[in-house]
Amino acid sequence: MHLKGKKILITGGSRGIGKAIALKLAEAGGDIVFTYCGSDLATVRATEVALQAFDVKVQAVCADASDFDATHKVVADMVATFGGLDVLINNAGITKDNLLLRMPEVDWDAVLSVNLKSVFNTVKASMKTFLKQRSGSIINIASIVGISGHAGQANYAASKAGMIGFTKSIALELGSRNIRANVIAPGFIATAMTDQLDSTLQQAWSEKIPLKRIGLAADVANCALFLASDASSYITGQVIQVDGGLLT
Ligand code: NAP
Repeated sequence: MHLKGKKILITGGSRGIGKAIALKLAEAGGDIVFTYCGSDLATVRATEVALQAFDVKVQAVCADASDFDATHKVVADMVATFGGLDVLINNAGITKDNLLLRMPEVDWDAVLSVNLKSVFNTVKASMKTFLKQRSGSIINIASIVGISGHAGQANYAASKAGMIGFTKSIALELGSRNIRANVIAPGFIATAMTDQLDSTLQQAWSEKIPLKRIGLAADVANCALFLASDASSYITGQVIQVDGGLLT
C-alpha cells in the first residue's frame, strides 16, 4: 500500500490519532500537510521532525478546523505549494461531555462546529481539486458512538452521526468522478482524549471489548492507510469500525 507522490491533508495531526495516521501515511511515502489549533509549538515541531524522517514533504499549518475561510486558505495554499490534494482526512475532534440536562448551548455549538462543520469546510474547499483530478479519497474519523449513541455525549454522538450521514451522501454525489468517501469509526482508543477517564473505568471498558484490549492510535492508522491507498479503490460510502468488536 504505497502512497509515493500522494498529497495528504490531515486535520488535527499534531498528536493522538491524527499524528499516528500522519506517521503511517508518511512511512508509506505520502507528502503530508497537517493542521493544528491548540497544540504548543514544541509538540508541533516534534511531529514535523518525526514525519521528515520518512523523507517526504511535510508542512504544519495552524488553522481552526471549524473556520470556513481559514480552511479554504489551508487547501488553496496546499494545492499551490504541493501541486494537488489526493487524500483528505478529517480527524480534528473534541469532546465536551455532559448529560443533556446540564449541557450548555456553547458546548453543543463547539462540538458540532469542530467535529462536523469542519468536515463540510474541508470537503467544500477540496471538491474542485478532486473533480478536476477525477480522483480523491476522503476519510472521516467518526466514532462508534455516532452509531450507538452514548449517555453524556449527545453533542459528540450527534456530530459523529452527522459525519456518517454526510459521508454517505457525498459518496453518492461524487462516486461517478472516482472520488471516494468513507468513515472510520474507532471504539475506545488510548489517547489524550480517553486518558481523562480514570483507570478503573478504562479497565472496565477493556473487559467489555471482545479483543480484550483498548485500541491503539496505530490500529486506526492502519485502516486509514488502507482507505488512502489504491487497495481500497472499490470501497466508498462505508463505515469501518476499528473497535476490537466493541459494537457488534
Ligand atoms: P486528541 O488526542 O484529543 O486529539 C485531537 C486532535 O484534534 C488534536 O490533534 C487537536 O489539535 C485537534 N483539534 C482539536 N480541535 C481542533 C480545531 N478546532 N482545529 C484543528 N484541530 C483541532 O483526540 P484523539 O483521540 O486523537 O481523537 C482524534 C479523532 O478521533 C477525533 O475526531 C475523535 O473524536 C476521534 N475518536 C477518538 C476516539 C478515542 O477513543 N480516542 C474514539 C473514537 C473517535 P490541537 O491540540 O492542536 O488543537
